[in-house]
Amino acid sequence: MSVDSTLEATQEASAAEDRAGFDEIHILWISEGMSCDGDTVSMTASGQPAIEDVVQGLVPGLPKVHLYNKVLSPSLGGEDYLVPFRAAARGELSPFVLVIEGSVPNQNIIEDGGYWTSFGNDPDTGEPLTLNWWIDRLAPKAWAVVAVGTCATYGGIHAMAGNPTGCMGLADYLGWDFRSQAALPVINVPGCPIQPENFMETLTWLLYHAAGSAPPPPLDDMLRPQWLFGKTVHEGCDRAAYYEQADFAKDYNSPKCLVKVGCWGPVVNCNVPKRGWMAGIGGCPNVGGICIGCTMPSFPDAFMPFMDEPTGGSVSTTLIKPYGAVIRRLRGITSMAVNKEPKWHHNGPELTTGYDPHWRP
Ligand code: SF4
Ligand code: SF4
Repeated sequence: MSVDSTLEATQEASAAEDRAGFDEIHILWISEGMSCDGDTVSMTASGQPAIEDVVQGLVPGLPKVHLYNKVLSPSLGGEDYLVPFRAAARGELSPFVLVIEGSVPNQNIIEDGGYWTSFGNDPDTGEPLTLNWWIDRLAPKAWAVVAVGTCATYGGIHAMAGNPTGCMGLADYLGWDFRSQAALPVINVPGCPIQPENFMETLTWLLYHAAGSAPPPPLDDMLRPQWLFGKTVHEGCDRAAYYEQADFAKDYNSPKCLVKVGCWGPVVNCNVPKRGWMAGIGGCPNVGGICIGCTMPSFPDAFMPFMDEPTGGSVSTTLIKPYGAVIRRLRGITSMAVNKEPKWHHNGPELTTGYDPHWRP
């Protein structure tokens, strides 16, 4: 064997080693954060891929997935359901992806014992095991950690000003510099609830990474998948042409731009109008719902009261009004012109297209 071919073989072997991943992986999903369980419900609506396809091994190239989510569990619940979670906490189950749904309360502010939210009981004392107890034991052992929904990512509605639980997002709890066993930060998939495919697409990318056939999913500064949250609602909205023409709705029955009645789309990172909600259908402003910024770290406080015009909205809409008025008028004139057929389309005795073959010798 020549030196070159030996080198090539070594490089190939090393690349294969780099790609070496897991054949099987567990997903431990705890929805006992402060939440409504809406993200679990929403996730079941995904079609590309469907969670059923992932769990049944119908997506080529993924590791075999063992999912433990209480809504989708075939177990009878109770201790039966808790078996894999208890095993993982003892360090007897790996590799696993930890998915947390709901915000994480601050247990430290409770002075006289008690708890905000729990998941199973301590077998020795019979006392409830808090969500915090589980996160403290599972997160450091997890191959990857995913926060699903705005409550788990940034605190959401439960973490708004004046709340009594001191709750927060998972990265606030674990630290923004937290790294899982795969050296990944918390992966945030916000949304109230998550758009179904946004979550499943992120999970699928993560599973390909676990299989050794994809790099880690690229995340932005707020740990969101870049390809999903890199654009604003406004940039993908069906109504954006109305905005550009300064044609604003005065109430919610209008097909026009909703900015004057409370839409925050121009400054909110979310792909829902582009992607739709289920099977490509829906997507807040597309179907008449103002964007209230539910994917954003500052949700809900920064976007309230929900149905008032956004603070910057009056400036931008005032500035665009003269341009919009002129452009609408000009487009109206052009539109009338192009809504006519050419005058030479007739059944008369003469050809009036202006075509004259007689110039040819
Ligand atoms: S409805 Fe909202 S997102 Fe759509 S064009 Fe108007 S301001 Fe932008
Ligand atoms: S369009 Fe706005 S309200 Fe709708 S899901 Fe996206 S961020 Fe939330």
